[in-house]
Amino acid sequence: MKIDSRHLDFFDLDRHLSEENLAVRDSIRKFTNEILLEKPKMGELPLVAELYRRGALPLDEKFTFMRENKEEVIILRQYLADLGLFQICLSATMRLDGKNEKETESYGITPGFDYFSYGVAMREIERGDSGIRSFVSVQCGLVMNAIYSLGSEEQKLKWLPLLASGQKIGCFGATESGSGSNVAGYKTKAIKDGKYYILNGTKEWITSAAALADIAIIWAKTEDGVLRAFIVERGTPGFVTSKIKYKNSMRASDTGCISLTDCKIPEENILPIFYPPGSGNKSLLQCFSQARFGIGWGMIGAAQACYEAAHNFVAIREVSGGMLDGKQFIHGDFAKMARFISCMQLFANEMTVLKEEKKLEHEYISMVKMNNCDLAFEVARIADEIVASSSKTDEICIGRHLNNSRAVGTYEGTCYVHELIIAHALLGKWAL
Ligand SMILES: Cc1cc2nc3c(=O)[nH]c(=O)nc-3n(C[C@H](O)[C@H](O)[C@H](O)COP(=O)(O)OP(=O)(O)OC[C@H]3O[C@@H](n4cnc5c(N)ncnc54)[C@H](O)[C@@H]3O)c2cc1C
Repeated sequence: MKIDSRHLDFFDLDRHLSEENLAVRDSIRKFTNEILLEKPKMGELPLVAELYRRGALPLDEKFTFMRENKEEVIILRQYLADLGLFQICLSATMRLDGKNEKETESYGITPGFDYFSYGVAMREIERGDSGIRSFVSVQCGLVMNAIYSLGSEEQKLKWLPLLASGQKIGCFGATESGSGSNVAGYKTKAIKDGKYYILNGTKEWITSAAALADIAIIWAKTEDGVLRAFIVERGTPGFVTSKIKYKNSMRASDTGCISLTDCKIPEENILPIFYPPGSGNKSLLQCFSQARFGIGWGMIGAAQACYEAAHNFVAIREVSGGMLDGKQFIHGDFAKMARFISCMQLFANEMTVLKEEKKLEHEYISMVKMNNCDLAFEVARIADEIVASSSKTDEICIGRHLNNSRAVGTYEGTCYVHELIIAHALLGKWAL
């Protein structure tokens, strides 16, 4: 069996992509294949597997690769920025918002991308690793999107160009130790004191927070009980971060906790736009929608990587009575994996069509996010079953994707939470 595009895109859905979408797909695919999934010089494992084992995402470390018989030094921060990965999401949003080229460029964003480009970018990067995709999603889907949709003109002009170019890294602090899914239960407070707000509280499980982030979008309740977003710069007295230790998934990611003790934040750092009490924390949830969209696409890449690894294995593995790729069980498994991947792709495509038509409701995104996390896990589980002992080391990607897909299924709304959202849309009431 030779792997061709039919394996990974059974319905040939990529035929719907524009030239611009295909250019984005191909440039990021090349980066994933030639950098993320390659062994650096002197390295024993592909770069992403090495980072996963280290439990870190060192953005500024120099990695040397042999490319076309020449040594090339790669610094991830610069490479990801040069690929435009931090810009595509906002470029697509601004286009739909009717912003012209000049306005878009004034925020440091290259104009003209659409949401299919954002989707395929997330898919291709997550074929490498979910940790790298999470880092990109947080930077563009959460942090930049929050500043763009809730920020003042001054905040946008100051921060978006720095974030788009990767000069500054952001994190998004919503979750607290006692409250993950339950946004209403957040306890972090922001008390007005003259021209400042004083922030107190803790945030945990925050992507990019431990060491990478220069700024954090912190969600805190003001005295009137409204959840508001603040830009908090690293270095502010009372702002302390630490690393989450002993993670068993999403290890190529800088996940941390943030402690805020009497953090004095200038009033110009509050994001001025917010939705009034009773609107179901819409400000926060609209940021989640952007990131969940990217997850829906990203999970396809993780599943494709597992399919491909299983495919490579069965073609060379001999078992009693012949080659593994001639066995009926294995044929059933491949049909099932292809069915699951196709289902994920069809969901993601339809979600994107609706987004471009400005008809995408959050419950549709919930269904795609939940479905694609579940099915990516299922594909990884089947691939793991097929590849058996050989998938139990990080030389093969399956175990990494198997673990990562559970973390992706947890953040940005667990499956149960998305079921509640979908059922609310259907039945018109929240389950108790
Ligand atoms: C790798 C990783 C990265 C993350 N990055 C970020 C980040 O950058 N920023 C950020 O703010 N957060 C981040 N998170 C946190 C993540 O969003 C939360 O873990 C998630 O929202 C779930 O919260 P929880 O773990 O506290 O579980 P809980 O909310 O306590 O849920 C526990 C269980 O209860 C279920 N449940 C919850 N509510 C209900 C209900 N009403 N009815 C029925 N069942 C319910 C859940 O499905 C789950 O099974 C990250 C998490 C991980 C694992």
